[in-house]
Amino acid sequence: MTHSDTCGRGPASLRADFPILARSVYGHPLVYLDNGATTQKPRCVVDAMTDEYLNVNANVHRGVHYLSQQATDLMEQARERVRRFVRAAKVEEVVFTRGTTESINLVASSYTQAFLREGDEVVLTQMEHHSNIVPWQLMRDRYGIRLRVCPVTDDGRLDLDALAGLLGERTRLVCVTAVSNVLGTVNPVARIARMAHACGAHILVDAAQAAPHLPIDVQAMDCDFLALSGHKVYGPTGIGVLYGREELLEQMPPYMGGGEMIGTVSFEHTTFNRLPYKFEAGTPDYVAATGLARAMDYVEAAGMEAIMEHEHDLTLYALQRLRQVEGMRIFGYGSLPAAPTAAWPETGGAGSVVSFLVGGIHHLDMGTLLDRLGIAVRTGHHCAEPLMRRLGVEGTVRASFALYNTRSEVDTLAAGIERVARMF
Ligand code: PLP
Repeated sequence: MTHSDTCGRGPASLRADFPILARSVYGHPLVYLDNGATTQKPRCVVDAMTDEYLNVNANVHRGVHYLSQQATDLMEQARERVRRFVRAAKVEEVVFTRGTTESINLVASSYTQAFLREGDEVVLTQMEHHSNIVPWQLMRDRYGIRLRVCPVTDDGRLDLDALAGLLGERTRLVCVTAVSNVLGTVNPVARIARMAHACGAHILVDAAQAAPHLPIDVQAMDCDFLALSGHKVYGPTGIGVLYGREELLEQMPPYMGGGEMIGTVSFEHTTFNRLPYKFEAGTPDYVAATGLARAMDYVEAAGMEAIMEHEHDLTLYALQRLRQVEGMRIFGYGSLPAAPTAAWPETGGAGSVVSFLVGGIHHLDMGTLLDRLGIAVRTGHHCAEPLMRRLGVEGTVRASFALYNTRSEVDTLAAGIERVARMF
């Protein structure tokens, strides 16, 4: 698909590109509202991967033969595609990983070894996904670093005054999600980056929930590290990205050892490859890299501006419809959210996620009964147990939107919730 294939089409009309959306579930048309967990794949992504497996496949970076060179070219083209998507200055700063989780674990391990000493502090926030908490706890237990936690306000935002109070001379790194996977809160990461840098610390941005919804510009937001997952941005599973500032990556030791990441190996001594290969041990998922590149082409052709506008409309509409349900409790969104714009890293805002509970109905019951109506939502703690504790609940029901969702699906969700509520 070229730019002109998607350009100018309303996001809702892109549905035909996603065959799975035509499925029915328990006799109902599928209403897929679990996009925060993973997004569906447009046919062009699957086609690009099938084509590579059927016509190009060979291991990359190793062979002198034609296919290997062609596969290597495709992978390096994918890296360049990712560089443009996140607006990194250099391809050397784009490391392929298996996903956000691996990207953060890589930073936790290698950054800690390179830069942190016992008693140094890493600041996390109360709205982090477990994948931006647990890797740091592992480092705390291994190296004696200290973890500090920025609290969340009652209306679901980061308490930036409290954050300012946490930053001090022992702070080395601030780790923050760009968008909460539970509340939809869009955090002003550029402002947080300035706060971190002003006290000599670095910043890691978890962009897992931002990359599908908001334009990413690592230079404009001035972040030192940024992590994202391919499968949440309409790409395949098993591939993700770590953006890292070159001078930091240069000083960090490898995360894993093996093929590809070396210069020369002897039993006495091994030297390491240049960036980004130093961090890419073993055979990479080069076919998934191609799929991710295709997904990024797709998103950019659909237009981030159009996606933001469409998803914001859906979020507002969902808030309006869901608030009419008796006993509805929506988490976050203290006031109606400001539409995110390209300036989101400065302004913050609210994203395309709505978390809720209705009366005393358990989130699992609500999710299970909605599923019977063909409506796929997420239930539980969303890998954010500390945030659940802050909200005073065990779990929520979460509807999360993507570029292909429609107002009529929101109507189906609202009607489904009402129907479930009447059963109790
Ligand atoms: N961070 C956030 C905010 C997420 O929502 C998720 C996944 O839901 C992750 C990190 C982990 O992503 P993955 O499982 O793709 O590594």
